[in-house]
Amino acid sequence: MVDPFGRAITYLRVSVTDRCDFRCTYCMAEDMTFLPKKDLLSLEELDRLTTVFIEKGVKKLRLTGGEPLVRKNIMHLVRQISRHLDSGALEELTLTTNGSQLSRFAAELADCGVKRINVSVDTLDPQKFRQITRWGSLDRVMAGIDAAQAAGIHVKLNAVALKNFNEFEISDLLRFAHGRGMDLTVIETMPMGEIDGDRTDQYLPLSLLRANLEKQFTLTDIPFKTGGPARYVEVAETGGRLGFITPMTHNFCESCNRVRLTCTGTLYMCLGQEDAADLRTPLRISEGNERVSDAIDEAIGRKPKGHDFVIDRRTRRPAVSRHMSVTGG
Ligand code: SAM
Repeated sequence: MVDPFGRAITYLRVSVTDRCDFRCTYCMAEDMTFLPKKDLLSLEELDRLTTVFIEKGVKKLRLTGGEPLVRKNIMHLVRQISRHLDSGALEELTLTTNGSQLSRFAAELADCGVKRINVSVDTLDPQKFRQITRWGSLDRVMAGIDAAQAAGIHVKLNAVALKNFNEFEISDLLRFAHGRGMDLTVIETMPMGEIDGDRTDQYLPLSLLRANLEKQFTLTDIPFKTGGPARYVEVAETGGRLGFITPMTHNFCESCNRVRLTCTGTLYMCLGQEDAADLRTPLRISEGNERVSDAIDEAIGRKPKGHDFVIDRRTRRPAVSRHMSVTGG
């Protein structure tokens, strides 16, 4: 699959549910309306659709959400998809999780061939963690990280950089992550979906964060890549890696290799644009995969050059109306 700008699409992110057991304030409103269960693709349909993508050249697949580990019987899907790792058709199966259910699932994930996961942790302060997630337990997430590491899964921490919340805690997160052999990636907050607060109050450009960190640490740019948009530095004092994902201040769309599938079978060709393709209808009207394969080709042919997010006081509306929990981060 090659888009009109010559970019090969080899990375599929699948949001398996829009539901989550947390309500991170920058991600969701407190009072969210979730999709009716009947609108969701079944696990069998998700397996069928991801298989079509793999047959068309996807090499890396990430499960996300919502919270992927709260989808009922999710391990059935993970087990099914893992056959493509065994056959060599798929190079990597991974997931992004809030870690709350990891204690339960880490060993089985490892058994299915999951070697790396991203765990989202924005603060190491239990009270602040509860505040930002609205009701999450940091202890549970920490137990989940322990379980994942004990199972031999490589964990990377993701933190959204938030002004007046964690901007001066990133150094603690960095020391914690590197002390446990984990990379840390910081992310700029993106204007996706209506939330209860004002995003202008939360937005922290990572150039500022980096300048701040450079007062304490020696950061050296390195060419390290994981297939995602992060640009990495090595931190001399800890010997670990720190990634910066800067959708706001630095557009990285020229190397975009991904598309995003939601749990209703909608394909988004760009995280920051509204345009999408319905794959559920072609999937359901025929037992063969030809129609869905054609629909994917048509959608890839419409992949836009990039996004242009803006957060400022004049731009009150989010750049895209859907929340991050629909397409997955
Ligand atoms: N529940 C899982 C988790 O917590 O990682 C997966 C889904 S969550 C939507 C994926 C990532 O998106 C998380 O790291 C989250 O912090 C991030 N995220 C959510 N809303 C965001 C926003 N508006 N801007 C930037 N990152 C966001």
